[in-house]
Amino acid sequence: MHFKTLAESFDKIEHVSSRLAMTDLLADLFKKSKADEIARIVYLCQGKLAPAFKDIEVGMGESYVEEGIAKASGYSKADVDKEFKKRGDLGLVAQEFFSKKKQRSLFSSELSIGKVFKNLIKIATVSGSGSQQLKIKLLAELLNSASPIEAKYLVRIPLGNLRLGIGDPTIMDSFAKNLSEEARKNKALVKGVEKKLKEKKEEKREAELEKKIRLKVRELIESKYNVYSDLGGLAEKLAEKGLKGLEKIEITPGVPIRPTLAERLPTAKEIVEKLGRCAVEAKYDGFRLAIHKDKGKVTIFSRRQENVTDMFPEITDAVRKQIKAVDAIFEGEALVFNEETEEYFPFQVTIQRKRKYDIDKMAKEFPLTLFAFDLLYANGKSLMNLPFKKRRERLGKMIGKGKTIELTESIETDKTEEVESFFNESVEKGLEGIIAKDLNAGYIAGARKFAWIKLKRSYKGELGDTVDTVILGFFKGKGKRTQFGLGGLLTGVYDEKEDKFKSLAKIGTGMTEEMLSDLHKMLSKIKEGKKPARIDSELKPDYWVEPKYVIEVNADEITRSPIHTAGKKKGEQGFALRFPRMIKIRQDKKAEQATTVKEIEAMFKRQKHVGLSE
Ligand code: ATP
Repeated sequence: MHFKTLAESFDKIEHVSSRLAMTDLLADLFKKSKADEIARIVYLCQGKLAPAFKDIEVGMGESYVEEGIAKASGYSKADVDKEFKKRGDLGLVAQEFFSKKKQRSLFSSELSIGKVFKNLIKIATVSGSGSQQLKIKLLAELLNSASPIEAKYLVRIPLGNLRLGIGDPTIMDSFAKNLSEEARKNKALVKGVEKKLKEKKEEKREAELEKKIRLKVRELIESKYNVYSDLGGLAEKLAEKGLKGLEKIEITPGVPIRPTLAERLPTAKEIVEKLGRCAVEAKYDGFRLAIHKDKGKVTIFSRRQENVTDMFPEITDAVRKQIKAVDAIFEGEALVFNEETEEYFPFQVTIQRKRKYDIDKMAKEFPLTLFAFDLLYANGKSLMNLPFKKRRERLGKMIGKGKTIELTESIETDKTEEVESFFNESVEKGLEGIIAKDLNAGYIAGARKFAWIKLKRSYKGELGDTVDTVILGFFKGKGKRTQFGLGGLLTGVYDEKEDKFKSLAKIGTGMTEEMLSDLHKMLSKIKEGKKPARIDSELKPDYWVEPKYVIEVNADEITRSPIHTAGKKKGEQGFALRFPRMIKIRQDKKAEQATTVKEIEAMFKRQKHVGLSE
């Protein structure tokens, strides 16, 4: 495919705002893509060159991109910079400059996806002396052959923000659209769907069937994505083999799995009522790590599925020594723990281990203990469908002697008092609380279900839990805060159904002066000239930002709000946080892993329910 076709699709996508229209455009684009190029096209739609866990970022600073534009367009860097200051988007600057380009390249030829990809990969991977100049040259080389529309996106990719508002859910919707014709011919699938049809009238039934088939296919795709976090790889299998390609996708060591998540209940009594006899484990406050062992090769993924292997050498060593299985995927929480005094260190100490330098020194000073809590795969077999009780037994048997990897503390009970006293013991030890687990449940990748229920130290007079919100924009500081350039944040939560971020709270407290200026620095880099496509907010901050950073927030309660859009339905108000205060940045979460609108709704209901019973 020519890069021009992709750039033109991007341009159309940029100019529509409904998710349906976006899905149709993406579906057309993927239909036109050949099986051997579709993976690369999907990565480019995600603004990447590879799945996130492969850690290949094109990453060029604005100044170098400006040089690239200048080099290829014949304008000076100062001209480019001046226009950038005016427009706030180098993509638009490139588009404009290339439409009135001063010098024409002698050998400009049509850019293919292959050529673009080759140069971008080089830009992403060259290092050492002279590498910046080489990066500029590689970008300029592409720009030399580019039309104005192509230039716009060629510039935005290395800057790490395509500004299209395509989320993974929309990409999956478009895969489902392209597969629905084939699915219509799949007798078993149609039969299963037909059973659930509600419409009686023949003509309406047909439309309902169509919709349900598409939803079923979408569900199948997502269930695979949950255990195989590589949308490009998935697209390739679908393009090669259609629906049958889905069967070929299996949990694989080295490819991260989306983590299972815990629901909340406010009391031990309700937990026991919900689960009956259950396992109750201590809730540790550290890093959630997924460990993949493939013979001698150990890979560690963070909660946001980044490859963090290099940060934790003592864990990698321990996996080789302590884990008896040839290959395995298991999960645990890692934190600094003093075995002699049996003291768990607070998160502020553990977080120091998240660094790229002085790793060995820090590993000696603050060694981590990994408290393992689940086993998903061992010796070539997926264990995700085994009941939790069996998975934990196998996990226990798999861990050999050693100090670094241990099983989580756990009891099995159906008595409220025992859950309560285990909770109190855990809190006394400085832990966060407990997680109760359904003994019979399989591992539910990527979803928050009642297979796990968390109960945390209660924040007296406040919400039973903190909320993780996404920063959507910021307000200029007033008075004393003028000096920091930032006085408050507009934040929101994730609406999974619509794949949008909806506003929930304006936050101006809880930040130290240092935090304010750090936030300003961080957010200035991702400022947007207009409201990003995936944000839904009626409140307008001074500056919009790309929804990227998640912050943990505490508040007194959730209230109904006419201003915010989270949970807002026709004729109903949205939700807001009362007296929100920032606690910290959640570096371990991606925007899509923030608290969801659905969770806010549940927390709101529960809060009322608790109030009534008191
Ligand atoms: P929180 O902010 O409460 O940590 P979260 O949104 O990060 O929640 P949840 O899925 O709601 O994530 O809570 C589960 C988290 O608790 C896991 O992601 C994991 O990091 C941590 N954890 C600590 N101890 C355990 C344990 N024994 N079993 C499972 N998860 C545990």
